[in-house]
Amino acid sequence: MSTYPRAALLLSAAHARQFPVDLGAEVAFAGRSNAGKSTAINVLVGRRGLARTAKLPGRTRLLNFFELAPLRRIVDLPGYGYAAAGEAERASWGPMIEALATRESLHGLFLLVDSRRGLLDGDQELLAWAAAAQMPVHVLLSKSDKLKRAELRQALTEAARALAGRATLQPFSAMDGTGVVEAQRQLGSWLGK
Ligand code: GDP
Repeated sequence: MSTYPRAALLLSAAHARQFPVDLGAEVAFAGRSNAGKSTAINVLVGRRGLARTAKLPGRTRLLNFFELAPLRRIVDLPGYGYAAAGEAERASWGPMIEALATRESLHGLFLLVDSRRGLLDGDQELLAWAAAAQMPVHVLLSKSDKLKRAELRQALTEAARALAGRATLQPFSAMDGTGVVEAQRQLGSWLGK
């Protein structure tokens, strides 16, 4: 399975005008804070520590673009669910995410959902955004290693019900490797390689 050992942070955008040129292919990652998004990005890309640079204080409300290969990018959306965002950040967020929806290079969205918590409000908002943009969504039900087999089955059933056909879904654990290959295949398919 292809990983991207040369992946690097391309830029952190506070405004849509700072986005990279809309060429090539791009995949977004979103989820509640602490859902395991940074860990998933690192594992899927195959570069330990990659997404950590984007979590430094002051950068957490930015859209971080990583270049995996020429004209192949991922976009790391700020984690949501904590009321930590200030007024200015909230004001810039709306226009930025609206601009993101119009990008032709954006081919899909990974949504990280903690398997112990299930889909919550912020996730639903993001799903609505993706639906309006006709953006395919693939949910990674994260930290599946924390659940017993029957609990995981139950979590998958409930998530599938909550998604109601709006996204594809798989269990995922960066810890024990569950679903990593499957998720890498989805990433590669959206990126076109
Ligand atoms: P983010 O805020 O969504 O980027 O979440 P992080 O990737 O920083 O992960 C949040 C916490 O969950 C960290 O303590 C991680 O070590 C832990 N974590 C992430 N992925 C997994 C996983 O697959 N299994 C377990 N057990 N813990 C995980």
